[in-house]
Amino acid sequence: MADSASDKDEKAMGLFMSAPGSVLIRRGPELSLTFINDTALYQTGLTRADIIGKNIDDTLKKMNSSFDPALFRNVYKTGNPFSARAFHIRHDLQGKGEIADTWYDLVIEPIFDLEGRVDGVATFSHDVTELIKANNELLRKQNRFALIADAIPHKIWTSGPDGKATYYNKGWYDYTGASELEQLRQLIWGALHPDDLKPAMDTWEKALKNGEDVEIEQRFKRFDGAYLWHLTRVCACKDETGSVTMWVGSSTNIHEQKCAEEALRESEAQFKALTNSNSLLIWQTDEHGTTTFVNDTWRAYTGVEKDAIDKNEWLNNIHPDDRIHALQQFNDAFNARLLIHSKYRFLDVRTGQYRWMLDNAHPVFNPEFGGYIGSMTDIQEQEMAQLATNLLMEKKDEFLSIASHELKTPITSMKASLQILYKQGYMENMHWEKALPMITLANRQVNKLTHIVDDLLEVTGIQAGNIQLNKTSYVFIDSLKECIQQIEQQVPDYDIVVDNGTDAVITADRVRIEQVLGKLLSNAVKYSPNKPKIIVRVIADKKFLKCSVTDFGIGIPDDQQPFIFDRFFRVHGSSQNFAGLGLGLFIAAEVIKQHNGYIGFNSKENEGSTFWFSLPLSTK
Ligand code: ADP
Repeated sequence: MADSASDKDEKAMGLFMSAPGSVLIRRGPELSLTFINDTALYQTGLTRADIIGKNIDDTLKKMNSSFDPALFRNVYKTGNPFSARAFHIRHDLQGKGEIADTWYDLVIEPIFDLEGRVDGVATFSHDVTELIKANNELLRKQNRFALIADAIPHKIWTSGPDGKATYYNKGWYDYTGASELEQLRQLIWGALHPDDLKPAMDTWEKALKNGEDVEIEQRFKRFDGAYLWHLTRVCACKDETGSVTMWVGSSTNIHEQKCAEEALRESEAQFKALTNSNSLLIWQTDEHGTTTFVNDTWRAYTGVEKDAIDKNEWLNNIHPDDRIHALQQFNDAFNARLLIHSKYRFLDVRTGQYRWMLDNAHPVFNPEFGGYIGSMTDIQEQEMAQLATNLLMEKKDEFLSIASHELKTPITSMKASLQILYKQGYMENMHWEKALPMITLANRQVNKLTHIVDDLLEVTGIQAGNIQLNKTSYVFIDSLKECIQQIEQQVPDYDIVVDNGTDAVITADRVRIEQVLGKLLSNAVKYSPNKPKIIVRVIADKKFLKCSVTDFGIGIPDDQQPFIFDRFFRVHGSSQNFAGLGLGLFIAAEVIKQHNGYIGFNSKENEGSTFWFSLPLSTK
């Protein structure tokens, strides 16, 4: 019996039966399967009986294969072989009932009969599924790396061991405006700031030679021409023998930090320059009170040259008598985070002399408490001047006290003599018409002298702290009217208007308050020549009575107003034309103060002044 086609093929192809690749032969117009080797059969999970002799459609169906039968028919029809690498086929692998993705390198060859006609097709295939899967995995990984590299805000690149760039992430393309690898390769060095180029080239050359990692700050030009600072790190990836297999570089934009640092450095330098060019002694502490900064002026005073200053080193230069107090003040203010105002003597090592300093400091919150910043002002000159003034004033007071006592006695006796002379002359009918004007004049001058001496005595009394008040309750307006009458007798051409709104009772030393009124009224008259109008106002609220005296005279210049109640103060220039000692307002202020009242004034040069005082009302 003649062998069937499959027997023949099996005999002929026996060699391939256990070949590692799959071999299948199909014959006749139906492309019936006549041979399948073990490898292919194993792949199908079928038995030979299931498929041998079955046509192409049936076999493929049995195998649950996605293989297109038209491919085989085409080879059969045309006699042209078909070949493909990594040809994708889905089929039920090993009959497990699951459709699997597989890839084959395959060739479908026509088989010719003796006459040269196509008689069948032979399929030789090699399973490359594992290879393809591994490859796909690699691709996916590469893809994931590229995705990550593109997503991060850093600029990443890789290069081969020779240093030639192989990859730039999206950050680089976006930053430079380049669109492809070759373009970026060419422009990257030119994108470096001219000042950073040489150091970058030297570093890179050295790294390539020695296989070293690199860290460098450099400016790269952006697509718009702006140079921004970057921190570039390059890592040499090495194999087990230590040879570089690739370089991985990253450049991070640090422009803002760099600019902020630069600005900080500049402002620190400016701060130092400012403090050092200063005559103030400037210091700073941290939150624990340890001095962290002193300026050059401070160093020059103390002779301290080292940078670190010990905690209480500043105390060493303070005069021993002031030291404990200064420390106490500092600690109290520091603990309560309050302003520091301290005055002490500080040693200037250059001269070996202590100088008076005014130390002002304030706490710094940022927003947490960060210590104190203080400045010391040399007030030696002012202190000395003040001391000299005080001494002078003391001497003046002493002199005035003696002089006024000495003057008082002869004046009193002169006055007594004048009175006797007046009475006797009158009785004895002397040449009265000649003597009377002279006696009157002498009497007036003696009265003036008495006032001056009284004022002087008053001042020395106030200075010594003996001002006696003899308080009674009385209607203020009555006493005011009496004072006005007296003044009116002296200056009959003045129009003194009283604007009274109260008949309030006050409890006060009437004589002294009248003394105050007398001084304000006589000043109003004295300092308003040619403006003979004065307005006196009295008002009262629940607690206070307020009396003001307004004139339309020379007024007081702004710059001299702060000193108006000072002892012996007289406005420069204008007051020289008027007699006075500069004591009236000083005494008035003292008297009002003793009564727990207030005194003040408003004034405008050449327009006039209003002097006022207020006194507490008697409680009923
Ligand atoms: P004096 O004896 O100089 O008048 P006072 O103490 O009474 O002393 O006044 C001090 C200074 O204040 C005066 O010298 C004068 O310059 C100025 N002064 C006081 N009252 C007036 C006023 N009503 N108008 C302008 N200047 C005044």
